[in-house]
Amino acid sequence: MAARTVRIIREFFRLISPAAPAAEPDFIEILSQPVPILYRRHARARNYVLRLRADKTVVVTIPRHGGKGFAREFVASRKAWLEKQWRILQTRRRPPQDLRPGMEILLHGHAVVLEVRHNGRGWELRAGPEQTPLSAPDGNLRPALEHHLRAAAKALLTGRVGQLAREHGANVNRVVVRNQKSRWGSCSCRGTISLNWRLIQLPEAVRDYIIVHELMHLRHLNHSPRFWTAVANACPDYRAAEEWLKQNSGQVGF
Ligand SMILES: [Zn+2]
Repeated sequence: MAARTVRIIREFFRLISPAAPAAEPDFIEILSQPVPILYRRHARARNYVLRLRADKTVVVTIPRHGGKGFAREFVASRKAWLEKQWRILQTRRRPPQDLRPGMEILLHGHAVVLEVRHNGRGWELRAGPEQTPLSAPDGNLRPALEHHLRAAAKALLTGRVGQLAREHGANVNRVVVRNQKSRWGSCSCRGTISLNWRLIQLPEAVRDYIIVHELMHLRHLNHSPRFWTAVANACPDYRAAEEWLKQNSGQVGF
């Protein structure tokens, strides 16, 4: 009798379980966007494991004796971690694509169209307020554009750090403009501020916030409440800048 009961229950589960996940796709909201959650059972898994995949799907592995209800709570409890991973995914650079006239990039917070013109003496590339000479009118515009924008960013950011440091009484020893993959800036206890050259793509107010953020780290090498109070005093609109970064970081890079 006992064996028969078990068999029936097993069949009953087999019948209903495949249909259940398809009937109710599950989502979690990450930075105002619904992101699907995939539940994966793994007989050898010891713990619940959470991943945010590059295709922007949350995958949670459920251990042998675990349950979907707990898995759902586990995902919800790790929301801050998922938001952080989401931002990293957004800032990750896409594979470089050839840049051609007519394409748009983000520059100083605006979408600008790449234009190639002859100025009477030679070819030049224009992108909004920026322009740089070109050896030929055809071909991939990326090398010339990156070369120019990196130099322009270095001049712009070095000057702006100097102004903001004077304004807020910060002592900066050195400004380095680099090609960082996943950070906007960093700060060392020796007074070196490192900034990503792609800051030239951001709106001025957001760029200023990132610089002020790094300047305040010269006094507080952490993200303590005192650090954030110093940021808020120096940059009262910093929350709007943070919000812009959350929403638009994916547009930066080209
Ligand atoms: Zn910081």
